[in-house]
Amino acid sequence: MMDFSQTLINKSDAIVEQWVEAVYQDEQIEATKELTFKAVRDSLPRVLKALATVLSESEKSDLQTVVDASLEHGLLRAEQGFEPAEIAREYRLLRFIIFSFLEEDLLKASPVELLRAVRLIDTVIDEAIARCFNSYTHGRLQELEQLQSQLRLTNQELTRLVRASKDSLSQLAHELKTPLTSIIGYADLFLRQQRQNPELKDSYSNLESIERVMKSGRLILRLINDTLEISRYDAGRMILQPTVINVCEVINSVIEIIEPLARNKELSLIVDCDRAPNQVTTDPLRVQQILTNLLSNAIRYTESGTVSLQCYQESEQTWAISITDTGLGIASDAQSKIFQPYFRAVSEQQASDSHGTGLGLAIVSRLVQLLHGEIKVDSQLGKGSTFTVILPLYSGSHSSIE
Ligand code: ADP
Repeated sequence: MMDFSQTLINKSDAIVEQWVEAVYQDEQIEATKELTFKAVRDSLPRVLKALATVLSESEKSDLQTVVDASLEHGLLRAEQGFEPAEIAREYRLLRFIIFSFLEEDLLKASPVELLRAVRLIDTVIDEAIARCFNSYTHGRLQELEQLQSQLRLTNQELTRLVRASKDSLSQLAHELKTPLTSIIGYADLFLRQQRQNPELKDSYSNLESIERVMKSGRLILRLINDTLEISRYDAGRMILQPTVINVCEVINSVIEIIEPLARNKELSLIVDCDRAPNQVTTDPLRVQQILTNLLSNAIRYTESGTVSLQCYQESEQTWAISITDTGLGIASDAQSKIFQPYFRAVSEQQASDSHGTGLGLAIVSRLVQLLHGEIKVDSQLGKGSTFTVILPLYSGSHSSIE
C-alpha cells in the first residue's frame, strides 16, 4: 500500500505556505485582513501534521491528533474573529491544496489505494471542520458571556445617567438603552438555548439570534459615532478641507453606494447633473456625508415611487442640490424640529424599522453650516419631501469654524 502521509509530511511546509497564501487571498475570508502572515499560519502546521499522522498506515484509526489540533485551531480562529463560513472556506482550500500536492502520488496508486486515500482525507477534513466549529462555538460562547456581563453593567450605568440628568449625554444613554437591552436579551436567549440543547449549535434560530445581536451592536456603534461627530462639530473641532472638485463625480460616487438601497425597495433613482456648476471649491468629504444622509433618508422614508437628485447653479455665487422623494412626508409642525438631535417625526415603531439614529439631519445641518450654506425642507404629509442644500461656489478654509 502507498503511504501518502510521507508525502504530506515531506511537503508540509510548501502546503502550509500555499494554504496561508490562498486563505489570505480569498476575498470571502475577511478576518485575515487585519492579521499578520504569522498569525494566520499559527496553528496550521499542527493541523496538517495531525492529518498526516492519521493518513499514515501505522496509526490509521487514531483521529485524536486531528481532533486536538482542530480544537486548538478553532479556538484560535474564534479569538481572531473568523466567521464560521470563513473557517469552512479555509478547510475547503486546504482540501484542494492537499489534493493538488498529492496528485502525482495519487495517479501512481491503484484504484483501491486511490479510493481509500481520497475517502480518508475527506473524512479527516470533515472531522477537522466539525471539531474546529465545536471549539469555535465554545470560544464564542465564552466571549458572549463576558460581553453580556459587561453590557449588563453598562446598562445599569446608563439607567443611572438617564435618571440623573437631562443633558445630551443622558439622551444618548437613552438611545443606547434599546439596542443594548436587545443585545443582552438575545445573547441571553442564545446562551440558554446552547445550555439546554448543545446539539443545536448552528441551528437557524441561533444564527438569527446572533444576527439580531450584531444588528443592535452596529446600531450602537453608529449612535456613538454620530454623537461623536456632533460633539466634534460643537467643540469647533471639525475642520474644513476644501479643494476644487468636480461636483458630478462627487455626486456619482455617492449614488454608486446608495443605489442598491433604492433597488432593494424598487424605487427609481433619478440623477440630473446637467445644470451643475463646472467648478466648485469645497470639502468633498463633507458634501458626500450630506448627500449620503439625505439620500438614505429619502430612500428609508419612501415606500414606492421615485427619489430624485438635481444639482444646479443657483446664483452667481451659489450652487444647490435638491433631493426629492415621493415618501411619507413631514408634518409642518415637525419640519422645524427634524434638525434637532434625536427628534423623529415618525412613530417609535417606524423609527426603529428605519434603522436610523435620529442624528442624521442634525449632522447634515452642522455640515451645511460648516460649508457656509443653508438647508431648506419643503414637505407635505403623505406626498413627499424635498431637501435643498444651497452652498457657496467657494467654501474656503480661512473662514471655517475651527
Ligand atoms: P433618522 O435616523 O431617524 O432618520 P434623521 O435626523 O435623519 O434621523 O431624521 C429625523 C427625522 O426626520 C426622521 O426620524 C424622520 O421622521 C424625518 N425625516 C427625515 N428625512 C425624511 C424624509 N425624506 N421623508 C420623511 N421624513 C423624513
